Amino acid sequence: MRDLTFAERFALLRSFVFGRRLLQHTPQYSHERMRAWQWERICRLVRHAYENVPFYTEHYRSVSFHPNDLRSWEDFHRIPLVTKDQVIANFPERILAKGLKLGELVVSRSSGSSGKVLDIAYDDRAMIVYMLAGLRLYGMGFAYRPWHRQLYIYTSPYPSKSLFGLYPLDFISTLTPIPEIIDQIKLRRPDLLVCYPSHLKQIEQQLSDSDLSGIALRCISVNSEMSTQTERDHLSRRFGCPVLDEYSSEELTRIAAQCRCGTYHIFEDINYMETRLQADGSNVLIGTNLHNYAMPMIRYEQNDLGRIEERHCDCGWSFRVLTDLQGRRNDSFILPSGRTISSGFLLDATYEVLLTYRTAVKDFCLIQKTRSEVILEVVTGDGWTADVRRAIEGRFGTFFEPGVRFSIAPVELCSKTKSGKRNPIISRIQH
Ligand SMILES: [Zn+2]
Repeated sequence: MRDLTFAERFALLRSFVFGRRLLQHTPQYSHERMRAWQWERICRLVRHAYENVPFYTEHYRSVSFHPNDLRSWEDFHRIPLVTKDQVIANFPERILAKGLKLGELVVSRSSGSSGKVLDIAYDDRAMIVYMLAGLRLYGMGFAYRPWHRQLYIYTSPYPSKSLFGLYPLDFISTLTPIPEIIDQIKLRRPDLLVCYPSHLKQIEQQLSDSDLSGIALRCISVNSEMSTQTERDHLSRRFGCPVLDEYSSEELTRIAAQCRCGTYHIFEDINYMETRLQADGSNVLIGTNLHNYAMPMIRYEQNDLGRIEERHCDCGWSFRVLTDLQGRRNDSFILPSGRTISSGFLLDATYEVLLTYRTAVKDFCLIQKTRSEVILEVVTGDGWTADVRRAIEGRFGTFFEPGVRFSIAPVELCSKTKSGKRNPIISRIQH
């Protein structure tokens, strides 16, 4: 993403005052009030998309839907979904609102399906809401004050290094060697660390106990890759501060994040989220971003699995709760019998086994190559022995069916996904 212009920064500051107040109140809205708030925005957005975005005009006309037909949530839930492939195929001319130029927008680029690039453009307003929601998100983990320093380890810089000097942020590229990152942490002494869970794990492994007690982080927020509660709890104990997961995507921006109780709250004032039941009993997440008018995402199929519940949380937020978040559907394993094992289960199971052999395993990646072949890549440590290997093989044998060959492959570096992210569970089978 490019840097914010002066005008955008000024708008951000102005919105900061008004928008932040709104964002602070919405988590306390009753469910009814929140639904009404979302409904008003959805009606406006659907009309805008139909009238100004060629892709949506055609998409809705193809099923004879007109915004005047939108009278209830049932009507909305019947509007055709939008897939990632459609977004890629229609970018930029047909999916940007008429009159907008790509150069005037903030564009975020990531890898789409089958190696294709997915570009998402945001207007100023959507960008500002995104950043304000970011400040609120970190405030869920600790009392985030304007003078607290953030260290942001990511593939591309955050659009703003500070907000007119407030909430200062230092950026480090994910490609930076871990020892250098550790030096930066010691030097800058950030209050908040934002990074991939795989990076945090490597940082933790290379920090000495005295280093750990000296860095005094107040909160760590992880994102983009799957991590489990077991893993985060472990890291939280080591760093002596909360380690909370954030769930977001380029298409929908901020979707949900964990509060101090560990609950994933859906950011209801950013997206309207729903689920769709699949034939195999799983639920695919579908989202509508309520703010991006430049490139609307309406009933966008996020393709991650999860459930949505209304339930009480001790943190006091009323936002609905995301449970069973299982990451990409494509990363679940399908066994010869047709049985599916979710990537969330596999990650939990793998992590628990490997935590038992901490000195033996520095890193791992579980890969299903074919329906009947699974390998566990392992970066071995000092404690690696033939006994450990046999014990891990025995334990993994219980996860799969008898017809599945399981083997361990010691490696220098674990495999990565096409986009260069570290995903500890990878399926190479076409789903
Ligand atoms: Zn909560």
